Amino acid sequence: MVLSRAISSAGDSVACTFASRYVREELPRYRMPEQSIPKEAAYQIITDELMLDGNPRLNLASFVTTWMEPECAKLMMDSVNKNYVDMDEYPVTTELQNRCVNMIAHLFNAPIKEDETAIGVSTVGSSEAIMLAGLAFKRKWQNKRKEQGKPCDKPNIVTGANVQVCWEKFARYFEVELKEVKLTEGYYVMDPLKAVEMVDENTICVAAILGSTLTGEYEDVKLLNDLLVEKNKETGWNVPIHVDAASGGFIAPFLQPELEWDFRLPLVKSINVSGHKYGLVYPGVGWVIWRSKDDLPDELIFHINYLGTDQPTFTLNFSKGASQIIAQYYQLIRLGFEGYKHIMENCKGNAAILREGIEATGRFKVLSKEDGVPLLAISLKDSTGFTVFDISENLRRFGWIVPAYTMPADAEHVAVLRVVIREDFSRSLAQRLIADINKVLRELDAHAVHAVKITTAVATQASEGMDDGVVTKKSVLDTEKEFASACMDLLKNKKTGVC
Ligand SMILES: *Cc1c(COP(=O)(O)O)cnc(C)c1O
Repeated sequence: MVLSRAISSAGDSVACTFASRYVREELPRYRMPEQSIPKEAAYQIITDELMLDGNPRLNLASFVTTWMEPECAKLMMDSVNKNYVDMDEYPVTTELQNRCVNMIAHLFNAPIKEDETAIGVSTVGSSEAIMLAGLAFKRKWQNKRKEQGKPCDKPNIVTGANVQVCWEKFARYFEVELKEVKLTEGYYVMDPLKAVEMVDENTICVAAILGSTLTGEYEDVKLLNDLLVEKNKETGWNVPIHVDAASGGFIAPFLQPELEWDFRLPLVKSINVSGHKYGLVYPGVGWVIWRSKDDLPDELIFHINYLGTDQPTFTLNFSKGASQIIAQYYQLIRLGFEGYKHIMENCKGNAAILREGIEATGRFKVLSKEDGVPLLAISLKDSTGFTVFDISENLRRFGWIVPAYTMPADAEHVAVLRVVIREDFSRSLAQRLIADINKVLRELDAHAVHAVKITTAVATQASEGMDDGVVTKKSVLDTEKEFASACMDLLKNKKTGVC
């Protein structure tokens, strides 16, 4: 047997890391250390610290893939040293990207003729995809305004107030005003009627979401398209639509192929989708597809002649990993339409099981829709004893990460818990989660009863105090009650980020 022994420059033997001095010394945090440490020690120490991160599989806050087949994971590791941008050196990788773009464009019903290839690129995620799509709209609008001799310094985008944060980023970074349609209680997506009313001559596009981050609900892109066609006819404008299909883009085509939300609608000029959400690839990969060449202004495309041949590119950064793109191609050919359909049906089925279990508690109102991204967004029917933030906090003890958050304007008073159902969230995990939610509810109920007892005792004491006209000294119960209510306020104001 070979016993591997690594000797560091300081002469430490680290045949066993835990017998070495490295586990006793504090790790450098702010400045790079002068000396090296053995690789076993570095590996062990970092792995140990990472144990305190949440478990990705139990992270029900995220849409992003947390499980892939080992064969694909191997494929990714095999290509982890390839820089995607070296297209001349890795022409096969570039070819795989182009195949993905074409497959996704066909999935979204892009009007591509037999001898044509689709127009689109891989990105780091939907955020980069949205930046690129937004820039294309802005430039097209500016070019048209300049041609007409009209001012082009006040572009805007119309969206719902439920948009993902990347739209706000786009707006701020690229100086476009975001005009948000406000939500109302019970209606948590963009109302197409109100959106079209907000459109003006400076609107570069209306952004619709296929799968709202907050409730998973699909916005009515068809109605939006029809209303906007009318408005464009009346006004002579030509306001287009972008569909943010970050999660829904890999769900709707399999579960509701008849739903018209994509390039079948004439005003839809570009669509983004996250390969790392229901595209079933580890982060980060996204895609943006344009309807046709005319929708992507030429001046945004850079022709680099860096390492040999001419390569057209349209991305925000230069170097990036190639393995996610290769993994996307693996998933597309490995699963095929059939495989994606089965996985999405399973997610939907498990969402239904969870929904039934949650409804059976009688304590929650379900805000998510059955047709949409497979997730469950629920609010408490009665939040007097405790809030959804308490439930979220308590579920952490079992390892579950279930975020709680308040809705955007004008529905800020609605606080919800959201559970995202991914491929790796099985029926048995759903059942365990239901059992744990029931446990948490029982515990919180018991606490709430305790709080009521305290309140009653305090009230009795106060009225007794008033009877004889003597001001009672602040009791232990009073202090306890104040403390409890301060804690409640803290939790009420707490917002957990969702992605
Ligand atoms: C997740 C998400 C985004 C951002 O996508 P990334 O791939 O994480 O960059 C944008 N829009 C919607 C609707 C999303 O769900």
